[in-house]
Amino acid sequence: MRDVMRDVVVVGGGLCGLAAAYELHKNHIPTTLIEVKPELGGSLQTKTVNGFIFDGAMMAHDIAEPGRFEAYLAELGIMDHAFVTDEGRLAFDAGNRVLIDALARRIESIPRMMRMAVSTLGRFDDGRFSICMENGMLLDARALVVAIPALYAERVFYTLTPEISYRLLDYRYDTITRVSVGYRTSDGLPLVIPPDTPLTEIQCLTGTPRTPSKNGTVIQAALRFAAHDLPDDPVGELAALMGWPPNPDADHIATWPHSDPAQWRQSDHPRTVAHIQSLLPAGVALANSDYVPTSAPPHLDERVQQGIDAARRIIAHIG
Ligand SMILES: Cc1cc2nc3c(=O)[nH]c(=O)nc-3n(C[C@H](O)[C@H](O)[C@H](O)COP(=O)(O)OP(=O)(O)OC[C@H]3O[C@@H](n4cnc5c(N)ncnc54)[C@H](O)[C@@H]3O)c2cc1C
Repeated sequence: MRDVMRDVVVVGGGLCGLAAAYELHKNHIPTTLIEVKPELGGSLQTKTVNGFIFDGAMMAHDIAEPGRFEAYLAELGIMDHAFVTDEGRLAFDAGNRVLIDALARRIESIPRMMRMAVSTLGRFDDGRFSICMENGMLLDARALVVAIPALYAERVFYTLTPEISYRLLDYRYDTITRVSVGYRTSDGLPLVIPPDTPLTEIQCLTGTPRTPSKNGTVIQAALRFAAHDLPDDPVGELAALMGWPPNPDADHIATWPHSDPAQWRQSDHPRTVAHIQSLLPAGVALANSDYVPTSAPPHLDERVQQGIDAARRIIAHIG
């Protein structure tokens, strides 16, 4: 039996899904958000250890359109919580959660189904979309925003549009471990990555609100390591490799088996994404960094914009 009728269901409560849900809510479209985890935010999770604020994903972001994004942050009331790093990137004083929590507050009044996984999408005879949950519950909606990575979307689309599932099956991901360390000092912390190491990127924030002392430092290193390949003491080995003091005042390790699609490095990825988009039934929008038609990692604001654009396509469809 169907549950109550709703206009739009947003599947996935990461940054893209939240931006889409907020845009729909702003436009007075009855929306329900479904998220399988107990917390919103998806890959943007923040953890505080001994007063140091660490992000599991990137902690400082390149922004494609700073003016537009600043206006969005101001609309969310969090412009005062953003700052520009020495490298010209944008970071948040209390981590990426600042953005997630602000969006979550804006959609507080919409129905939220947490710890509920969508297993399959389909159609009822009357043309409305069916949303079959893993617990057997059946929902319906006039339109859908699917804001989940390809490795989950592949299963979800199998009944509705099998051709999309076949395309998404080809996605391959990079595995990345982000090791973050915090020091109460900024002295003696070289940041140049030595050659021939598994390190791909180092980000560093010094003298920001993300450390308990004024001169403290938070450093995040990205390593191309799967969890099972990690050395016994990744923090100690990283410190030795970089020439940092061996015992940081705080650390945090986040391993992402499916961090970003390897396809970003392939020149035909934009064409694949365009093809997947063309296969979407009217009334279904896809939003997630896996579906950005780019050959380079997209920027934080582009992921937000992707959620907004998906919502706007749905609003145009509903009419
Ligand atoms: C280490 C790392 C590096 C990254 N680098 C980049 C980068 O350079 N550029 C970039 O654009 N992106 C990057 N990403 C991805 C980026 O963090 C996300 O694109 C961004 O946060 C937007 O999130 P999202 O909403 O698209 O997806 P996610 O953050 O993956 O959120 C999807 C949500 O959907 C939920 N979900 C999944 N399946 C279901 C289901 N069946 N039913 C209900 N809920 C479901 C998940 O629990 C999750 O909360 C990176 C991610 C990591 C981890």
